[in-house]
Amino acid sequence: MKTLESSPSSLGASPAELPQSVTPAPKRRDDTLAVGSNTARCSHCNKTVAYHYSPINHKKQLFLTVFTIGLWLPLWLGMTLCPTKLCDECGGPIWND
Ligand SMILES: [Zn+2]
Repeated sequence: MKTLESSPSSLGASPAELPQSVTPAPKRRDDTLAVGSNTARCSHCNKTVAYHYSPINHKKQLFLTVFTIGLWLPLWLGMTLCPTKLCDECGGPIWND
């Protein structure tokens, strides 16, 4: 006598295709310049250099704001919210993006 058993392995899904659920590192936006943390391309030096942010003299900005009757306030806010990157090599401002 022959016994025919229906095997449960005929479902079609292969166990080798596992969904990738683990992502170890978040994808960085600027992964082209991944050398160090504070590097940017300086247009003056024409190469990737380290940069620093220019310190803001808030007393001077306050004096200018008062002196210009508030006209300097948007510029003060602008340089406070978006500080200028300065090249460590030549000291010039770096404008990117
Ligand atoms: Zn430079």
